[in-house]
Amino acid sequence: MSEVFGVEQERDWNELEDAEFAAIVRDWVSENYPPELRFPSRRLFWAEQGEWVKNLARKGWIAPGWPREFGGMGLSPVKQVLFAEQLERQGVARFQDHGITQVGPVIQRFGTAEQHRRWLPPILAAEDIWAQGYSEPEAGSDLASLRTRARRDGDEYVVDGQKIWTTLAHDATHIYFLVRTDPDAPKPQAGISFLLSPIDAPGITVRPIRDISGHEELCEVFFDSVRVPVENRVGAENQGWTVAKSLLGHERINVGSPKQPGYALEMVAAVARERGLLEDPIFRDRLAQLQLDVADLGAAYTRYIAQLARGEEIGPDVSMLKIWATETVAAIADLIIEAGGAAGGIAGEVAIGSGELDLLGALYKARPAMIYAGSNEIQRNIIATAVLGLPRA
Ligand SMILES: Cc1cc2nc3c(=O)[nH]c(=O)nc-3n(C[C@H](O)[C@H](O)[C@H](O)COP(=O)(O)OP(=O)(O)OC[C@H]3O[C@@H](n4cnc5c(N)ncnc54)[C@H](O)[C@@H]3O)c2cc1C
Repeated sequence: MSEVFGVEQERDWNELEDAEFAAIVRDWVSENYPPELRFPSRRLFWAEQGEWVKNLARKGWIAPGWPREFGGMGLSPVKQVLFAEQLERQGVARFQDHGITQVGPVIQRFGTAEQHRRWLPPILAAEDIWAQGYSEPEAGSDLASLRTRARRDGDEYVVDGQKIWTTLAHDATHIYFLVRTDPDAPKPQAGISFLLSPIDAPGITVRPIRDISGHEELCEVFFDSVRVPVENRVGAENQGWTVAKSLLGHERINVGSPKQPGYALEMVAAVARERGLLEDPIFRDRLAQLQLDVADLGAAYTRYIAQLARGEEIGPDVSMLKIWATETVAAIADLIIEAGGAAGGIAGEVAIGSGELDLLGALYKARPAMIYAGSNEIQRNIIATAVLGLPRA
């Protein structure tokens, strides 16, 4: 076995038949994933799932989509979907995966060899857990108008400003973030840089925000004269917008994965079984429609994964995948509530047949997905202008 970026390369998984590979993944997950963490109704905290994620990392399975030369499993697009399906069927919760799905791939693409050596191994070992510092109070959809400033002082930047809606920042060890390095640039996009920092650097304060479901998943992050070494910049100074956009492409593919809708379908089927709805032909028809939507989505997702595997940059049409996946999840969440009958209006876990499920939690997870990674209205604008070539309103 060879070791790459600290990861033992057990074998080339692509050499296995699909069914054999799926069975190996299924069995290992079934033996190793803690049963009490199956199908949670909210994002889990690191204290709850960190041990499992470290176990996944030790197995060498934390980065199914990364190329083998960067310590990933290097799975083919079809095997990546199979891998995700096996996890989804057993209710494996999403972890704080911004290192694997977002910043890792852009460090591979835009980082130096030294940055690869410095930043990739601790992501693969589940030691560095990353948060995304993009949005600001006045810069969400209009991200390029961000105002967090970074002033150069010798070999360091001095950063002042604020980020908001930072998912699980209180669980992260590191944050990647966008700053304005040239306030006088002719276009706002031209003066932005992309930086990396430990989140416990002096001057960074993280404050959780309580959401509508009572959960504290999102945070505000304040920067007060935070010193960031210039060597922690990815890409050239003032060219961070290119890096930022590439990362958003990865984020949109990830949000567009059939994993979340597949997971929601498992839940609707469970509720329907318990309440005898599978005998109702109208209900069965609606469920079948959604199952077909998820299958179609899987096919489209595989196409984008194949593009990534060929080393191609993802185009603006990936917005379609993001809209489709999130609106499908929302439609499934609506059906979960409906299938639950009166229980669909009760917050928290409710008894459904022999088990307990948080039906409203499905809705609370589905709605924000239409906002994060760029709202669906913005995705429609991108398709209109950058894909269809329609004039800007
Ligand atoms: C659960 C969740 C997790 C998140 N996690 C992170 C994170 O980890 N890191 C991070 O940086 N950010 C994160 N975000 C923030 C997210 O990226 C922003 O909320 C999003 O980009 C929208 O920005 P905003 O909230 O400022 O809304 P605004 O930009 O103020 O938009 C408000 C409404 O107006 C609409 N709108 C705005 N402009 C237009 C337009 N030109 N045309 C049509 N409609 C428009 C929007 O679609 C939206 O409905 C998260 C958000 C959520 C909900």
